[in-house]
Amino acid sequence: MFDLIPDMAAKRAELTPDALAFEDTTTGLSWSFAKVNAAADAVAAGLAARGLVEGDRLAILCQNRAEFFVALFACQKTGLILCPLNWRLPAPELTEVVADVGISLFLADAAFMDVAQAVASATETPLLSIEQDLNGWITAGGPALSAAIPAERPWYLLFTSGTTGLPKAVIQTARMAWANAVNIGQAIDIASTDRAACFLPLFHTAGINLYTLPIFLTGGLSTILAKFEPDEVQALLASGRINQFFGVPAIYQALSLMETVDDIDWHLIKCGCGGAPLPEPLIHFFAEKGAYVLNGMGMTESGPTVFLMDPGHAADKIGSVGKPQSLAEVRLAGVADGVEGAGELQLRGPGITPGYFQNPVATNKTFTGDGWLATGDVARRDADGYYYIVDRIKDMFISGGENVYPAEVERVLNSHPAILETAVIGVPDAKWGEVGAAFVLLRPGATLEAETLRPWSRERLAGYKVPAHVRIVTDFPRTAAGKVCKPDLRQEFEDA
Ligand code: ATP
Ligand code: MG
Repeated sequence: MFDLIPDMAAKRAELTPDALAFEDTTTGLSWSFAKVNAAADAVAAGLAARGLVEGDRLAILCQNRAEFFVALFACQKTGLILCPLNWRLPAPELTEVVADVGISLFLADAAFMDVAQAVASATETPLLSIEQDLNGWITAGGPALSAAIPAERPWYLLFTSGTTGLPKAVIQTARMAWANAVNIGQAIDIASTDRAACFLPLFHTAGINLYTLPIFLTGGLSTILAKFEPDEVQALLASGRINQFFGVPAIYQALSLMETVDDIDWHLIKCGCGGAPLPEPLIHFFAEKGAYVLNGMGMTESGPTVFLMDPGHAADKIGSVGKPQSLAEVRLAGVADGVEGAGELQLRGPGITPGYFQNPVATNKTFTGDGWLATGDVARRDADGYYYIVDRIKDMFISGGENVYPAEVERVLNSHPAILETAVIGVPDAKWGEVGAAFVLLRPGATLEAETLRPWSRERLAGYKVPAHVRIVTDFPRTAAGKVCKPDLRQEFEDA
């Protein structure tokens, strides 16, 4: 099915050439679909003139900007593989990534030129500037390309968030992007009249695929912000120019704490969320303002929209990530299809990666013998077919012989009025094998005596789930995707 996929930029330029595709708030440029496609043709010609051929890797280091997508479409046209780099990483870490992946050409913008130069010289990679070289190609133009794209050809590489260990490079294909566009497009009714905000980092799947590529494929407009800057995002949402955005829980948390949160007409905005458990108080907070934050689930390996909550049930299925979307096949290990139960979540379908880049060992470990992606997450299906992400198998611990899922404990602790967010890990214990340690972040201005949390929890949780240790902290170690980095918390606990 779908062995070839139309050149995405060329197809959109054919369908709606004059409609606006991108508005970039940093550079001020507004580009139509015809302009984006012509720019991608021009960049494809520029890259070919540098001797790059199908399969070569092109690294890009910049915050969100329209030229990123031009480079992405140029790679789709030519078979080059774009490797978006995490701009939060220091030069030594980037050097390792560039050396591991093997990069033929490195693009960076002015804000990252110093670090890019250090990486380029350490890895002997030619370095070009987005402002001068890439925009120079765009001005020069190039022959129109519109040949269909092999659906399964590696198009770009994205690293996993590194929440449980070292990030892994995941091959992304045009087929995955299309499957995600169908999934999210149907789930939230994306239309050509839609206007989405693009501020999640483009080195993660949500940045590219929620909602910028689906909106692009549908003919809608994306407003690009360099990154998540609470004041800028608040101002854009309050301006009424945007009717949808996707965030991770940390972003909703930040918006909820802003004094200006009520300047936004939340009724007008479709809000998606995923990547990590969504604390229930946040769902209620935004629901009172008129917006249901729809919880969804996906992975770098599967595309970001395997599951999405439907607005009709967002209020009565709190905590659920909804149902598997149109082009996602789901099974729970050890649980018969269609019945209630919990087990490892396994995925199949056109949205799933062909594998980790140059890493058949990791790929073989992640796929089951019969071809399903083993997520490493435990999920539960209820009697109505709604799914709940229970926790990562790696984060589960055993206390006195009983399994404890930290996410369940966190959900309960998060309902305490003084608590903004918690992270629970299992730590060694002489008597019980392992016990819970809770790291607690308080709401601004709130106070809480750590000793009172255990008796409070005991009224709401079985004894073996009540954290033996409670630490009040001012922040968590987080990945660039805003997820709490539990290996770092374990280290902190050991070091204390
Ligand atoms: P790494 O694989 O490097 O440890 P990661 O798994 O966090 O990092 P991603 O691919 O960004 O990297 O994240 C996918 C994971 O995020 C899922 O496997 C799941 O554990 C978690 N996740 C995604 N959405 C949700 C959600 N709505 N609720 C709970 N967990 C979620
Ligand atoms: Mg993962």
